[in-house]
Amino acid sequence: MAAPSLSWAAQADQSVGQPGAETVRRATAVAGQAGGGVHFANHGPGLGRRIAVTFDDGPTPGVTEKVLAALRERHLSATFFMIGQRVAAAPSLARHVREEGHEIGNHSYTHPQLGRLPAQQVVAQLQRTQEVIEQNTGFRPSWMRPPYGSFRPAQAPIAAQEGLGVVLWSVDTRDWARPGTERILGTVLSQTRPGSIVLMHDLHLQTAEVVGRVLDGLLERGFEFATISNLLGAPRIA
Ligand SMILES: [Zn+2]
Repeated sequence: MAAPSLSWAAQADQSVGQPGAETVRRATAVAGQAGGGVHFANHGPGLGRRIAVTFDDGPTPGVTEKVLAALRERHLSATFFMIGQRVAAAPSLARHVREEGHEIGNHSYTHPQLGRLPAQQVVAQLQRTQEVIEQNTGFRPSWMRPPYGSFRPAQAPIAAQEGLGVVLWSVDTRDWARPGTERILGTVLSQTRPGSIVLMHDLHLQTAEVVGRVLDGLLERGFEFATISNLLGAPRIA
């Protein structure tokens, strides 16, 4: 079997979703109505100045290292929602993320719209990703983020069964579309509030180039950085 392609543009498999486009708001709205004992979080408590900065769709060789360096220089922690097949393709980089003290979340195995898949496939997507992350990093995620925010209320028990809480986001940089470094910076600094969950992607160099300024801007505004588990606690799973 060929190694998974690291170039999403080159992906021919229709089952592999285009990463980054987490902004299918329609799907997000559906997810926001979920019950079923699973906590669909998109915001933390607005107490104090705590926020969580999150990076989706990695690990990406050549990009994730730069994001890690920016965090390390400032002694900050973040959460990386990893795609299982990308962990399998770059296991040492995934391990490096964990060794630097960051939280790792489950972002499915092949980045499909989970909301469109039957239960059995959703289970497989989540389980395979839990396994590959745990095998390679020693860390078993307790939070998952559905690609595109696509997750149906009826699917909530599936995540719970895997011991996963579902977390979305409240500040969307749309950095996956490469809107320019100034736009990414402006979005984060104008929209982040106490409790915000900021969505970025360790997918393109543009994000890596601006992430240091983003972090500095947030620090200047007095925000304190937390991982998702530090911001939200353990997922509420019935
Ligand atoms: Zn994604």
